[in-house]
Order: sequence, then C-alpha cells, then structure tokens
Amino acid sequence: MSSAKGVSIGIDLGTTYSCVGVFQHGKVEIIANDQGNRTTPSYVAFTDTERLIGDAAKNQVAMNPNNTVFNAKCLIGRKFDEPVVQSDMKHWPFQVISDGGKPKVQVEYKKKNRTFYPEEISSMVLVKMKEIAEAYLGQKVTNAVITVPAYFSYIQRQATKEAGMIAGLNVLRIINEPTAAAIAYGLEKDIGRERNVKSKSGGRNVLIFDLGGVYLNVSILTIEDGFFEVKATAGDTHLGGEDFDNRMVNHFMEEFKRKFKKDISQNKRALRRLCRACEMAKKTLSSSSQAGIEIDSLYEGIDFYTSITRARFEEMNSDLFRGTLEPVEKALRDAKLDKSQIHDIVLVGGSTRIPKIQKELQDFFNGRELNKGINPDEAVAYGAAVQAAILMGDKADNVLNLVVLDVAPLSLGIETAGGVMTTFIKRNTTIPNIYTKTITPCSDTIQVYEGEGAMTKDNNLLRKIELTGISLAPRRVPQIEVTFEIYANGILNVSAVAKSTGKKKKKISATAEIVWFSKEEIEKMIQDAKKYKTEDDMLRKTIAAKISLESYVFHMKGVFKAVDERCSPTFTWMENHELADKQEYENKQKELDCKFIIKVLYRSVITTPRIQQQNK
Ligand code: AMP
Repeated sequence: MSSAKGVSIGIDLGTTYSCVGVFQHGKVEIIANDQGNRTTPSYVAFTDTERLIGDAAKNQVAMNPNNTVFNAKCLIGRKFDEPVVQSDMKHWPFQVISDGGKPKVQVEYKKKNRTFYPEEISSMVLVKMKEIAEAYLGQKVTNAVITVPAYFSYIQRQATKEAGMIAGLNVLRIINEPTAAAIAYGLEKDIGRERNVKSKSGGRNVLIFDLGGVYLNVSILTIEDGFFEVKATAGDTHLGGEDFDNRMVNHFMEEFKRKFKKDISQNKRALRRLCRACEMAKKTLSSSSQAGIEIDSLYEGIDFYTSITRARFEEMNSDLFRGTLEPVEKALRDAKLDKSQIHDIVLVGGSTRIPKIQKELQDFFNGRELNKGINPDEAVAYGAAVQAAILMGDKADNVLNLVVLDVAPLSLGIETAGGVMTTFIKRNTTIPNIYTKTITPCSDTIQVYEGEGAMTKDNNLLRKIELTGISLAPRRVPQIEVTFEIYANGILNVSAVAKSTGKKKKKISATAEIVWFSKEEIEKMIQDAKKYKTEDDMLRKTIAAKISLESYVFHMKGVFKAVDERCSPTFTWMENHELADKQEYENKQKELDCKFIIKVLYRSVITTPRIQQQNK
C-alpha cells in the first residue's frame, strides 16, 4: 500500500451525511457534489427501475421508505444479535435480516427481493464520494483515508476498510473522526511551541464535541509528538438535531390543534412537510432571533402561517441542550482530567451551530474560546484529506513534519484456560507493532478476541483459528508461540507456531488475517458492485437515448408543422386561382421559398448521428 500512486482523498463516511476532501497545492478543498452540496446524504434507494445514491435517494425517501436504506454505519461490522442492532432496527422503515449471524438489509429492487450487507450499502456511498472527487479532479481516484468514530472496534474498522475495497478504493488508512478534526485545526503543530506544557501535563488535551443529526460524540485526545491518543469517548446515540426538530414539530402540531381544532399527527405527508419546515426554521434560528413557518394547504386545505423565536426554541429544548454536557463530564471523568486541563475545545457536526449549545459548552469551560473556524460539517473530511496527502508523501510546508500515529482502539488477545483473556496488544498501543507470547492452548483452536474484559465472555470474538498438527505431541503439554502482528494500515495477522521440544520449533500450525469477510466474499461483492454500476450506466444511457429521441421527434414535428403552415396557403391560392398564368405560378413558387426549412431539415439529419454518438 505504500507504493500507492496518484491523488488521494479523505472521506468522512457519516451516519447521515458523508463528505469528501482533497489536499492539493498546500490546502484542503472540500468537494461539492453534482447538486452543488458539500455534504452528501449517506442514503441508497432501490426502485423498480434504478438505484439512487445520495441526494436523489434522500429526496424520494417519503415515497419509497421500505427500499431506502440509511444509517448503514450503525450496522457495519456488527452481528445481527447485538442488542444495539436489535434496538436500532426497530426505528428503521427498511427490513434487516440475519444471514449466518451477519445483518443484511432486504429491499425490493427491480421488482425482486434483494439483500445487501451494510458494508455493501456503505460501499455504494463510498463509490458516490469517489465519483464526486473524480468529477472535480478530472482523473481517476483510488487512494483514500476513511474516518470512523473513536469507539469503533477493530472489526468495525476492518469492515469499513472492506467496504472501501468493495468500492474499488485502496484504503490507505482508517483514522478516528476526532483525530481528523484535531488535524484539521492543526492542533498538533502547536505542541512544538509548548514543550513546557507538554512536559508538565503530557501533551495537548483536546476535547472534540461532535453533535450531528442523530448522535452526540465527545472524545478527549491527547496529542504528543504526533501521537494521537484517544483518552476517552462518551456519547449519546439518540441525541442530535432530529430531536430538536421533533420538539418543534410537536409544538406546532399543538398550535394547529388549538387554532383549527384539527389533529395532523396521523397524516404522514403533513407531518413530513411540517418537519422539513421546522428543520429550516431551526437553522434560521442559529443566525436570527425569529423564524417564520409558511406551509400552504398543510392539512384539509388549511394554510399554516406562524413563527417562532429563538428564545422559545431554546426553552422547548432546554433539557436536551443541557443533556449534551453529560457526556462531556463523563469523558472528563474517564480521562481523569479536570476541565481546566483541556487545551482546546473543537466543534464538529451541524448541530454545534446552535448558539445556545455553544454558550452552554463555553460556560461549562468557564468562558474559554471554542475552536469553530472550520465548517463543522467538513472538519472531519478536512483532516482525513490532510492525512491522505501525508500518507502519499505530500511535501507541502504545512504538512511536511506532521506525523500521525495510530493506536489500537481495543485490546486484542486470545482465550486461555478457564476462559481468561490473555492480551497481546493493549488498547491505545501504537501501531504498527508485533507481539509474541508462548501459551498452553486449551483446545485445538485459538480464539482471537477484542475488548477490555478480563474474561473472554465479556469480549468480542473475532476469529477461531484451527491448530492442525498440534495433536502430534500427545504426551507433552503442547507449547504454542502465538504472534500478533498489526500493520500500519490496521491489518491484523495472528500466527501460531507449535514448539515440539524446548529447542526445536515445529513449523507454522496456523496463520490468519483477522477480517470481516473472506477474500472470496469480497471478490463476489466487487463483481456485484461492477454489475450494478454497469446496469446503472446502461440505464443512464437508455434514458439519455430516450430523451434524445423524444426531442428529435418534437423537433421534426416542429419542422413539418412549419412546412405545413407555409405550404397550406399556397394550396388554397391554387384552388382559388385555377386559371393563373405561368408568371403567377413562378412568382408563387419563389414566394414559398422553403430554403430555410430545408436548411433546418438538413441540420436535423446531420445532427442525429451525433446525438446517438453521445449516448454510446
Ligand atoms: P451532520 O450530521 O453533522 O451533518 O449534522 C446534521 C444536523 O445538523 C442536522 O440535524 C441539521 O439540521 C443540523 N444543522 C445543520 N445546520 C444547522 C444550523 N445552521 N443550525 C442548527 N442546526 C443545523
């Protein structure tokens, strides 16, 4: 992977929105999509005729809720039985099923039932982000850095990387979202100037406050000599912008009931229109003290015109706004830091634009300035783009000496006698790294786990590795030398060597890369993705050909109408002048002069093959 060539991009693969950036000529460019938007909904929709990704998918969600998939990130690298999957599923209009213990979404596509792994859905979003970058850069892009939440486990990261592979990307690195935000603010660069602070307090403590549409994530990082260590993460998986919208929707439903004695709560279309208007009003209130709502014919022909003040909005959400500080306190407690020890507070996520939320956070930190210079929707992609450029060896002054070291997000180890977790790679140790231990296996398999529990039953099983050949030494207690090797790109290899005597090693018993999907499964998904892309391209060309034919038909009809309009009066004249002389007939013919029409016709004929050419 170090031999990667060409341009590289940074992708923030978000739960609700994704964003892509590129570092070029010493600065980051956040790239707008074909709709002109700098963030793209992480939505994929399936219809009777086509597959839609991004804005086009989100725009039709109300018409096609069962076949429009979003929040795939909540399922990435998770098993179907996990409680969080079981609880999240209840809130989604699309169906989630189990396939050998892994979740899959089931949709109707081209009138057939189809199932997709969440990693495949995410790969479709990644393809969209890749195409957005390619359209802007005018060249193929394969190298990318993708971000994930700091709480993502090894296997969730691996599954994200595999989603990238299915999308045809060479994933240079998976990095933490808060790390990317910290890079975006260039916070690591100040450390050099603050050697004294570092030696006293062990680096620069940065708190990343990330409040989006659905989730709140608070992470505390310590940055020291390019080493980004996640000290603590805390969050609320159901606190975000949509909750604030819902409070406003309820408020206006009550107002509607009071004013017009009508309950709109059961009318999905009316609710959706009100919800959209409330989200717009909420955004307006981030910069104005008042916002209007104007919805024509909201319910039973009644127009709904009203307004809301910022004070009222803040009052109706006061408990939720205050609630955002709880994860901040928890993260500080877990990191064993006092709020006075935090050097920087970084805002990420669209909902951090709400002035009251900024004020609560600032008051909590005794009036400290918040870092909000970079658009909060874009900070993570911005940092990912910088990291992508560094990994490609960009020599721009502002990134030249930037070293970002990754750490293992959770401890990795194996099960030994009595169900004990024997840790090889401790949480937060830097990678790449290699660890070897000699153990006495309790069975003929090695079970690789991740997690912080002392017993493996509290941790997450990643893989079972068969130890063939170990029974070759039946009367001795078999000794196995196990090696965990974690590479810079995050790939984990576990190998086991049986020691038949104290001196002589018996050659490799087993070695395995810890992956989410097998190579064959990934290859099949890559082929499927190519097939879907070919189908999409064919459909796009078919639609273009149809539009071309339609416009040609209209054009020709127009030409013939013009001919008819020109010729008909001459026929009428001839009927009324049956005895006209030669000169009169010749004059009439000159008068008719259809040259211009012939010109138009000729143009139609020569442009037709060109239109067809474009659609090839
Ligand atoms: P993200 O997931 O980070 O893109 O955040 C999306 C959330 O931010 C949505 O709930 C938006 O309504 C919200 N949001 C975006 N812009 C603003 C704004 N100016 N004021 C308040 N909320 C906003």
